[in-house]
Amino acid sequence: MAYLSTRDGRAPPVRLPFEDALLAGLAPDGGLYVPEVWPRFDAAALKALQGKSYVEIAGAVTAPFIEGAMSGPAWRKLLTEAYRNFAHPAVAPLKQLDSNLWLLELFHGPTLAFKDYALQLLGPLFDHVLARRGERVTIVGATSGDTGSAAIEACRDRKAIDIFILYPHNRISEVQRRQMTTVPSANVHTIAIEGTFDDCQDLVKAMFADGQFRQTFNLSAVNSINWARIMAQVVYYFAAALALGAPDRSVSFSVPTGNFGNVYAAHVARRMGLPITQLVIATNRNDILARFINDGSMTIGAVEPSLSPAMDIQVSSNFERLYFELAGRDGGAVADAFRKFRATGSLPASRALWQEARALFTAHRVDDAGILTTIESNFRATGEIVDPHSAVALAAAQAVGRKDAPMVTLAAAHPAKFADAVERAVGFRPAAPERLAVLMDKPERISVLPNELAAVERFVRERARRPQEVAKQ
Ligand SMILES: *Cc1c(COP(=O)(O)O)cnc(C)c1O
Repeated sequence: MAYLSTRDGRAPPVRLPFEDALLAGLAPDGGLYVPEVWPRFDAAALKALQGKSYVEIAGAVTAPFIEGAMSGPAWRKLLTEAYRNFAHPAVAPLKQLDSNLWLLELFHGPTLAFKDYALQLLGPLFDHVLARRGERVTIVGATSGDTGSAAIEACRDRKAIDIFILYPHNRISEVQRRQMTTVPSANVHTIAIEGTFDDCQDLVKAMFADGQFRQTFNLSAVNSINWARIMAQVVYYFAAALALGAPDRSVSFSVPTGNFGNVYAAHVARRMGLPITQLVIATNRNDILARFINDGSMTIGAVEPSLSPAMDIQVSSNFERLYFELAGRDGGAVADAFRKFRATGSLPASRALWQEARALFTAHRVDDAGILTTIESNFRATGEIVDPHSAVALAAAQAVGRKDAPMVTLAAAHPAKFADAVERAVGFRPAAPERLAVLMDKPERISVLPNELAAVERFVRERARRPQEVAKQ
């Protein structure tokens, strides 16, 4: 499979192999990599996957995307390694809440949020590719809470990787912070930025845009802008739909959305032939995506802290991948549009593009009060406690979900990661799994930096091993 940058306006565009798209993360022109074509699974191909294990489904669904990069057995070995540490034998189990409503539990990985499903695979994948090439990378990433710990858990102590994670100071939960700052590994560095998640993301983008810096440290990204993460997330949509009867039955998904990564993966699954009736973009009060789908204008507002901090985002990076597709894969037009978006805070979108997006997605906004009442009412009705992000999706599913297909709400994180919000809703703190409980006694390493590129680059420069230093060891 070849990959294109969403901002490549040349004819023909540059075509990158999977490995290069994987290691680069973000394209040098600022675009995101997308596959040149969508692989298709017809009904017979989907039927052949019924009853298969998560790893087997992952192998089949991802095979076309990694084609040319790795042998089948080597890939199968990586997938097996990636999902071995998950606490549930089904990896991504479904739980029925109501006659037609399901929860897809995506919190059985080591850091208890859905980010593990992609990052536990990316760690070994990076190591495999880098070892073969005799290379090393410096991973820089921004996190609104859960990506950072999942990336750190996937990359800690790996020889060919140094990892730097930026997070918004005082805007993530204590558990989220401790999951990052208590990891003692020498190749792991966290930076608390005096700013928002969008500021962190801008700093990461600016480091990538600094050509010399990027080259010196062989920068790489594991944020959801990395195509391989989207690819890995496509798998659980297939697994869930197959378990509920695909291809004979079509299903709907409600997805708590921040950076548009997870719900975009659902869209990719649909493009690949998975029968999906409705895709719900569930946003919190930071509702830029819901405003776009419902009103047609994508205008950046101020980021407001909410009870679902991993969704406190105004600039949803992965939306560019959808825009690219809806703009007829015209990289030049995408580059123009997103330059204007940066400059003016408003994304140019034709009426036709908007209407196509509306045909693909339903969107709904849920505020903090809605989060609390949903956690509480769902607990009373079913005995299940959901975390505040999953509550956004659950509330959206209940508000705008169609009744003609099973509705699967994505449970994006374990409720114990957001114990304060849960306590406000139900009056008690959810039981913490052992993995979380031990964090509270471990020492933390915290570095606070201003929202300034120079300060962050200096921090990285002083700590990252340069590619040649590792070669010499
Ligand atoms: C990352 C995250 C989200 C947002 O997912 P996107 O892929 O950025 O849309 C929602 N909820 C939780 C718990 C998360 O960790």
